[in-house]
Amino acid sequence: MARKKLIAGNWKMNGLLADGIDLTKGVAAEVKAMGKPECEFLVCPPFTLLTSVKRALRGAKVALGAQDAHFAEKGAHTGDISPVMLKEIGCQYVILGHSERRADHGETDELVNKKAVAAHECGLKTVICIGETLEQRDAGKTIDVCSKQILGSVPDSATAADTVIAYEPVWAIGTGKTPTAADVEEVHAAVRKVLAKKLGKGNANKMRILYGGSVKPGNAKEFLSLPDVDGALIGGASLKVADFIGIAKNAGC
Ligand code: PEP
Repeated sequence: MARKKLIAGNWKMNGLLADGIDLTKGVAAEVKAMGKPECEFLVCPPFTLLTSVKRALRGAKVALGAQDAHFAEKGAHTGDISPVMLKEIGCQYVILGHSERRADHGETDELVNKKAVAAHECGLKTVICIGETLEQRDAGKTIDVCSKQILGSVPDSATAADTVIAYEPVWAIGTGKTPTAADVEEVHAAVRKVLAKKLGKGNANKMRILYGGSVKPGNAKEFLSLPDVDGALIGGASLKVADFIGIAKNAGC
C-alpha cells in the first residue's frame, strides 16, 4: 500500500514575523527546487504567523497547518481559535493532542476527539498525536498507552483522507533521545492494527502514521525507511531550512 510520506514541521511557540517569513521562503524555495518531490510537505507555525506564512508559501507545494483548534465554531472561549477560522485563512491541517498540549493544558483523549470531529467537519485534516511517557515505557506499557490514545482520540468517523497519526514518545521530544528503529516499527505496526479494528482495514492501510521525536537529518533515513513509518513530525529541526529539507532528502523525498 503506497502512502505518500508527509514531512511536517511543528514550529511550536517559535518565530517572530521576519524569522518566520525567512524560514518559509527558504523551505518553499528548496521544495520548489526538488521539482516533483516524492513527499508532501507541511509547516505549522504559531497562530500569529499563519496568514503571513500562507502568503509567503504562494505557489509552493507546502501545506499550511495550525498547532491546535477549539471544538466550537465560535463563542465565549477567550484565547481560543476555531477550526472554521483556520480554514478561512487557508490552513489545510491542524495538529491536535500534541503531548505539550496534553501536559500543559490537560487535554484528554475525549477533548482531542471532539476537536478532531469539529476540524473534519469544516474540511481540515488533522494530525492526531499520541505517545508514551518514559515511566510508561519503562513499565512496558507503550503499546497499551498508544492503543488507548488511538481509541479515545481518533473519531470513529475518521478516514485516511482526513486524518494522520503522529507517534511521538514524550521522552524523545526535544531531548535528542530516540527509540530504536525496531521499537518505532513495533509501535507503528501495533497502531495500524488498532486503527484497522477501529476504522476498518482499508482506512488503516491508507492512513499515514508519522514518527516524531528528535528527528534530524542524521537519523531520518533510519526511521523513515521503516515499512509503517509514513513521514515525520519535526519540532526543533523544522526551524532550520537545511535541517528540515535535509530530513526530507535523507528520507528519499
Ligand atoms: C514535536 O514536538 O512534535 C517534536 C517532534 O519535537 P522535536 O523534533 O524537537 O523532538
